[in-house]
Amino acid sequence: MKISKIITYPVKIGIRNQLLVKVETDEGVYGWGESGLSGREKAVIGAIEHFSEWLVGKPAFQIGSLWQELYRSQYFEGGRVLLAAISAIDIALHDIKGKALKVPVYELLGGMQRNFIPTFATTSAPPGPEMIEQATHLMKVGWKAMRLSPSGHQTKDLYEPREHLSETAKWCTKTREELGSEVVLGIDYHHRLTVAEAASFCQKMPRGTLDFIEEPIRDECPSAYQSLRKLIDIPFAIGEEFASKWQFQPYIENDILQFARIDVCNVGGLTEAMKVAGWCESHYVDMMPHNPLGPICTAASLHFAAAVSNFAWLETRASDFEKHLGFEDSEIFLDQPKLKGSVLPVETKPGLGITIDETLLKRQKFEFWEAPHLRRRDGSITNW
Ligand SMILES: [Mg+2]
Repeated sequence: MKISKIITYPVKIGIRNQLLVKVETDEGVYGWGESGLSGREKAVIGAIEHFSEWLVGKPAFQIGSLWQELYRSQYFEGGRVLLAAISAIDIALHDIKGKALKVPVYELLGGMQRNFIPTFATTSAPPGPEMIEQATHLMKVGWKAMRLSPSGHQTKDLYEPREHLSETAKWCTKTREELGSEVVLGIDYHHRLTVAEAASFCQKMPRGTLDFIEEPIRDECPSAYQSLRKLIDIPFAIGEEFASKWQFQPYIENDILQFARIDVCNVGGLTEAMKVAGWCESHYVDMMPHNPLGPICTAASLHFAAAVSNFAWLETRASDFEKHLGFEDSEIFLDQPKLKGSVLPVETKPGLGITIDETLLKRQKFEFWEAPHLRRRDGSITNW
């Protein structure tokens, strides 16, 4: 079975663009993949065009070998654009192989290790009484782990991190008091703080308030996290932007991260994700996959989650407070993973278990989107 064509679909679904990739074969079996580089989809399409030049005609079943060829057969290897392209192709090849062999993708990854996939949900309200109401609701309907959102921007383009730290810490503390000590509570700072700001935030809360803090600072400098570790004792959830095992390497080898926020659509697909999971297992680190994209990402993450032993929770964006995001258009994605309470049942259909109405998909438009260019009050640029 040989690869015959690769088609990219950059499409706005819900509030965000998704880059879906279809890999076709000469035997009529095809697979779907998704790229995770939100905001720079056209760059990934360019990379896939380069890869398509020589991928057509290659054996679709040789996924491991094709991964090596995609990664190593160029002088300027690696990086987030190329790995997002490799991820989408790798996931689609797993879908093809599963469908051709009539097995779910987790069977290609070592087989099922759990009967269902626990998820964590995210509250959408900013710190305040509504955040507590949402968290209480999530706990009542079955979530055992959830993530809170810090205070947002005062205006569209203004972000002054220190102005929000006390307020966010106060409401995190109140949420913990209201929910009790059993539920897992975390917060995601989307790498917007400095080491000092992150330390100040964490030190404003009683010990035990948070079970994890996700990306308090940017990730280019692993030793900055080591410096932050000396100042705070909350477990770190890191890794959603990491493209390849080598970006995880210093974080795993130096025991910096406690939860691996791996994104199968960015790290290099299921092939690379399984290697990172094995490496994390040797350091007693649990996988906590990043999953803010579409149903293909959810399905690929689900099969990954089913097949690894060291697993915490899969991110869902389909809880009661995130449905408005609209990433799961039910007319385009005819078959897709669906939450049952707070868990995802393991898909048992061949391949990823996704069915797409391609006619409808072709009508879907792409919309250029630019991330906010945030500035502090003095006009200087800060992180989005
Ligand atoms: Mg995050």
